[in-house]
Amino acid sequence: RARARNQIRCKYYQDRLRSDVGSALELALTDPLTGLYNQRYLRRHLAGLTAGPQGRELGVAMIDIDFFKSVNDRYGHPEGDRALKLVAATLRANTRVFDSVARYGGEEFSVVMPGSGPEDALEAAERLRAATESAVFEVPGVGRVPLTISVGVACANGRPASADDLIRAADTALYQAKRDGRPRVRTSGVAAV
Ligand code: GH3
Ligand code: MG
Ligand code: MG
Repeated sequence: RARARNQIRCKYYQDRLRSDVGSALELALTDPLTGLYNQRYLRRHLAGLTAGPQGRELGVAMIDIDFFKSVNDRYGHPEGDRALKLVAATLRANTRVFDSVARYGGEEFSVVMPGSGPEDALEAAERLRAATESAVFEVPGVGRVPLTISVGVACANGRPASADDLIRAADTALYQAKRDGRPRVRTSGVAAV
């Protein structure tokens, strides 16, 4: 009986260890607030794609919520968090299963779209912009508060590009989208950067 008890205890510790390793791994790759991938995952995933045959046909979108600071300032940080979750869920619901959606940081998100050329990627970005505009964010006691995003898109478009090149180009396009008046979708060629 003692041996059986020992083995049960051993199994219990093994299971716990396995589940601890599982949650540590999940924590390392996902953002706890939104459940999306985090920036670390996104960069590794993108580096893997750009190194392989899929690297030549690949779209990246950088997304930033417009005037998000005012959501926090007016309705408080917890409502801001709720808005972030809604935008995250909207992005996830409006991307294909093989696209990866990540919270890049703060109120910025990123979508990696394997197999997407410039036209597909722009169309996808516009779909995300429109879907976020249509998502209903209600603040208790206030009513509906509009949420919009601006999106910068970059594509490898038949040429090899590094993960950094793609992110930088998408960031440049996002900056342009903000400058042209929010909410907008803009694109930037990787080579032009
Ligand atoms: P822009 O249209 O230029 O992007 O304006 P913005 O107000 O969205 O940009 P800004 O960079 O001034 O503000 C970003 C805000 O996002 C400020 C910060 O408090 C908020 N933020 C970042 N992370 C979180 C978070 O995890 N939760 C909440 N509630 N707010 C966050
Ligand atoms: Mg920002
Ligand atoms: Mg913003």
